[in-house]
Amino acid sequence: MMLYDMPLYRPPSEGSNLILQVTYGCSFNECSFCSMYKSKSYRARPMADIFADIEDAARDWPQAHRVFLADGDALGLGFAELKQILLKLAETFPDLQRVSAYATPVNLLRKSAQELEQLRGLRLSLVYVGIESGSPEILKRVTKGASPASIEKALAKARAADIKVSATVILGLGGRTLWREHIEGTVELINKTAPTYLSTLLLGLEETQGPRFMQRFERLGGAFEWQDETGTLRELNQLVSGLEPVRPVIFRSNHASNSLALAGNLPKDKSRLLSEIASALSGETKLRSRYIRAF
Ligand code: SF4
Repeated sequence: MMLYDMPLYRPPSEGSNLILQVTYGCSFNECSFCSMYKSKSYRARPMADIFADIEDAARDWPQAHRVFLADGDALGLGFAELKQILLKLAETFPDLQRVSAYATPVNLLRKSAQELEQLRGLRLSLVYVGIESGSPEILKRVTKGASPASIEKALAKARAADIKVSATVILGLGGRTLWREHIEGTVELINKTAPTYLSTLLLGLEETQGPRFMQRFERLGGAFEWQDETGTLRELNQLVSGLEPVRPVIFRSNHASNSLALAGNLPKDKSRLLSEIASALSGETKLRSRYIRAF
């Protein structure tokens, strides 16, 4: 039986797929809003242990057809290691259709175009990239380790290799003072890059993370002021209204942290989504209670 090194995180959409830990932690681990891997240091797992887990999993679930590579940024592994893992998965699971992983812009940029194409050929067909914001200033303030330009380049590289991107942005990340820059920059970045999927999360900080987030945010001047419920709905409204991506984007705000769950395709469903947001802003639609939202 596979034993996971906890904590283990995976996107909600990977809930019914096989999760295979190929690294522990996150190779960057510096984003000031993220506390996911603060308890682990980043390391690659020995290949023999990964192969043993694959064989174990195949005994229990030989028909598995989708595999998610954990932890934080499996794309932090080198091309040769990823290739070995993907080959082993393909030879072990005859029905394998899709392999996915979290990825950072830096890790995508470190792979050559040919390497990404080869990985795609071995069924790595989806990466989850937290872009968080398209504002250069906010990305600096939260120590994202990426700029809008590097994110744009990384997403274009994934696209050129036919690897789908599921991108997330964080509402409330600029607080009350920088929310306009946050949304304007994000609209611009999404319109240019048009990831296959886009979803929103709502900023939430663990108690231990709060002081570090504030301190880093405020280094560039100005205090961080939390957005309220109406403020984040306005952000959502501005975001959806500005999105005119160069290719259709499947949009979701159904992560547990969101106060309003939306789903649609952009730009096709824009007016419906905007009227759902307007109904929430007017109080006609009830928002999810804070007590049932997971942060
Ligand atoms: S890259 Fe992702 S997992 Fe790593 S610290 Fe940043 S948000 Fe967290």
